[in-house]
Amino acid sequence: MIIRFLTLISIVLFMTVLNANEIKRKILVLHEADDTLPDSHVHTKLETILNHYGYYTEHLEINKIDLNKKTDEYAGLILWNYSTQTDDPIELINYIQKFKNKKNIIIGTIPYEDKNNKSHFNEINKILKSDFKFSLGEVWTKNTSLVKQNYNKQYFNFEKKVSFLTNRAFNQVKTHSKNIKVVFKETYKNAISHSAFFAPWGFYGQADSVFYDSKKIGANRWIMDPFKLVSQVFNIKYPIPETTTKNGKRISYIHIDGDGILSKSFNQKFTIENGYDFLSKKPIKTGISFIAVELDKDGPIFKNPMLKSIKDFKPELFNQNAKKLLELPFVEPASHTYTHPFNWRKGMVAYSVDKNAKRVLYEDRISAYQETDKQVNLKYEIHDSISYIQKLIPSKKVEVLYWSGDCYPSIRDLKYVNDHNILAFNGGDSRFDLAFNSYAYVMPVGLYMKEATQIYSSNSNENTYTDDWTDNYWRFKKVITTFKKTGYPKRIKPVNVYYHFYSFAKKGSYNALKTIYKYLEKNDFEYIYPSEYIKIAKNFHNIKIKEISKNMFQISNIKDLREFRLEGKRALASKQIKSIRYNKKLNVTYFRIKDKINKAIVRIK
Ligand SMILES: [Zn+2]
Repeated sequence: MIIRFLTLISIVLFMTVLNANEIKRKILVLHEADDTLPDSHVHTKLETILNHYGYYTEHLEINKIDLNKKTDEYAGLILWNYSTQTDDPIELINYIQKFKNKKNIIIGTIPYEDKNNKSHFNEINKILKSDFKFSLGEVWTKNTSLVKQNYNKQYFNFEKKVSFLTNRAFNQVKTHSKNIKVVFKETYKNAISHSAFFAPWGFYGQADSVFYDSKKIGANRWIMDPFKLVSQVFNIKYPIPETTTKNGKRISYIHIDGDGILSKSFNQKFTIENGYDFLSKKPIKTGISFIAVELDKDGPIFKNPMLKSIKDFKPELFNQNAKKLLELPFVEPASHTYTHPFNWRKGMVAYSVDKNAKRVLYEDRISAYQETDKQVNLKYEIHDSISYIQKLIPSKKVEVLYWSGDCYPSIRDLKYVNDHNILAFNGGDSRFDLAFNSYAYVMPVGLYMKEATQIYSSNSNENTYTDDWTDNYWRFKKVITTFKKTGYPKRIKPVNVYYHFYSFAKKGSYNALKTIYKYLEKNDFEYIYPSEYIKIAKNFHNIKIKEISKNMFQISNIKDLREFRLEGKRALASKQIKSIRYNKKLNVTYFRIKDKINKAIVRIK
């Protein structure tokens, strides 16, 4: 009887799980043809905020829509668009229509002219009016000084104040339902425009009401509060997977690209020697990578007669120091490739083993080679470089690669590392300081693509602070501003100290590192190795969360991401939870799932 009763219970539970609603965390982004990946508006400016609430994006070019493409897997759609023209605006609106019962964000213009300049304004408006309860008006002016703006202060003046200077034009938009909450209203003569509003299907905002897009480097700003925008459109009342936190504490990780080990420093030592002197006294988890060709005694560098004349320029010196560094008990070894490819998608490299490789200039200034098939030699650059580093440090498994050069690997490259169980990351270049003073410069966890996902490192390195290592070598200490701004009032990134060996070359940059490490010592971070961060970031994209019943969630496919967040102070019940911590300063509750289990049921009380 008991057995039958238990069977019944498990059938009921099983049925509940079957009926559960998956929290869809993937959002489809339609991007303009000239707003390409990875530079699209949504990816560079908004996706970090989406990540903060557990969402990520998949991109589709606006002219490559397939009306038969299913929409089931998406939480909704985002269109951030400036052009009135697209190949087929009717097909586009028909596709957008498929999302009317989901949650969506539309910023900017809904294109209505086709590629032959034919306007479909009325047809588009009909669909917008019937399915989305708004329409495009006909009043338009560029004379913005005559436009009166009224807006809900709770949502705007976030990083830049609303003014006629941020207003680029008056484009009339009308709404047609009581269920719409207008938050930005503009008046020009007798015409009224509802320029930003929330609707049951999501949000619409004119680009210049929401975001200040500047041609000046570093001057982009959010006019609207993007946290309020995202949290009001998408469901945020669920266990949000966290990539910034472990055991309630902010994650910190350090990684060093091998570049520059062959350079002499201000004190006549090679940077790799200074690196050892410095790092051996800093017992914090650190990832260290080398470029194999800079160690390989049979490679082109040590065979170059010009370099042979430099005092002490011997492969033994560099290999011994590399070995000593990798042997430090708190160091995780990594490869920074064999010859440092500059452009992964065009096969541009610093050296090639192919005698027929063509001499080219990378970014019109750096002498490089292009592989004959325009593809990076992956076995050489990845597999062989890892084997080289592995020989230096047989006691630790070498399985991490830091992308080099433009850090924009192709899908082929990403698949190669996945197939060979290599953990790879880099790229992104997040900054949030006085020179780039906006959340719009904080990059997401990664670049998700259906075929393979690239994980970004969480911060930019000293190169971007020193004008590509030409000036102001001390300036990398400004990264501390980024650490602070991405930690409070919202914790949106780990503290990632990311630099190259050449930082040990100059007095200014060496001192900058000292300042940064002092900052680390003053704070109580949770240190992890880069490999763990990469695994957490990968798991972020494939962890599954279902709402079984109200406030009851099933989390599955838990691998390395074990930390979750709830907004506000919340109590929880679960047998699978290891710890719950309320963070008063951030007003969020972090909880952690026990080690080793990959499924958990959590009830929010
Ligand atoms: Zn590099």
